Amino acid sequence: MPELPEVQTIVSDLNQKIVGYTIVDFWSDWPKAIKNLSLEKFKKEIRNRKILNVRRIGKNIFIDLSNNKTLYIHLKMTGHLLVKPAITKKPASTRGDVRLSTRGGQETKTKNYFDDKVNGYIHHIWKLETKKLKPEKLNVEFSDVRKFAKIVLDDTKKINTLPEIKKLGIDVMDKKFTLKKFEEILEKRKNRAVGLVLMEQELMSGIGNIYRSEILHLANILPQRKIEYLSGQERIKLYRAIFIVLKKAIKMRGTSDSDYRDTFGAPGNFQKVLKVYRKTGKKCSKCATIIKKSTLGQRSIFYCSQCQH
Ligand SMILES: [Zn+2]
Repeated sequence: MPELPEVQTIVSDLNQKIVGYTIVDFWSDWPKAIKNLSLEKFKKEIRNRKILNVRRIGKNIFIDLSNNKTLYIHLKMTGHLLVKPAITKKPASTRGDVRLSTRGGQETKTKNYFDDKVNGYIHHIWKLETKKLKPEKLNVEFSDVRKFAKIVLDDTKKINTLPEIKKLGIDVMDKKFTLKKFEEILEKRKNRAVGLVLMEQELMSGIGNIYRSEILHLANILPQRKIEYLSGQERIKLYRAIFIVLKKAIKMRGTSDSDYRDTFGAPGNFQKVLKVYRKTGKKCSKCATIIKKSTLGQRSIFYCSQCQH
């Protein structure tokens, strides 16, 4: 499932690519994903609305539209959003080619990721137009092989007060997520394993299965340790590790261990530098002990039993 760095990558891309455009039409072959409106009503409500801003809390994406409406999207397990120029008369092989030099100058050759199989499960398309920007027409296409993703269109005020949004804990990249705040959160779960607490979206939002393993390895803390046994120094180390890992992952445009792709259809890069996640049987980068896999909260957890205590 996309976690904070992957969703942040998508949100940053969308802010660069689609703000200022007007939604002129919408297509879907899986209207069940729209949770609060019929397809007909959704189409009617979303047409002719201008895209003002794209933001995020935890793993939830909010696209603010003109006249106080917001489009709320949760990508769930396999969802990702692709932004393509709406070219109709080009051969399929050149459609939507991406010049990778625009991706932070990392690569200069042109590669079309949109034809990759993982990007081919398109179930929803928003058609966008503008006269003020180039290209004048864009499509935002929603690829989702498992079809678990969620789409809601409603008044901005109502979206912000949806039960699943209201109950979210503070986003861990929020400026208000201070060490003091983090310590207060930990105090609420003294008897729980730290590996579970990091993933509790109602306490703090954004960290999922990949990054909890990576954060705890960097902080040298065993995932099974109970909060009450963490020293003051360990709490500080853990707090710092959250930022170090997530900032690096955002810089590297997320982790593509399976379906996650950015809005160019390209994979992230953080999977190349993972230290423990899915590294069972490999040597720890710090101490060369073999990485172990265990289960915590019904999800896999990866750690080094030598340098994590
Ligand atoms: Zn180690």
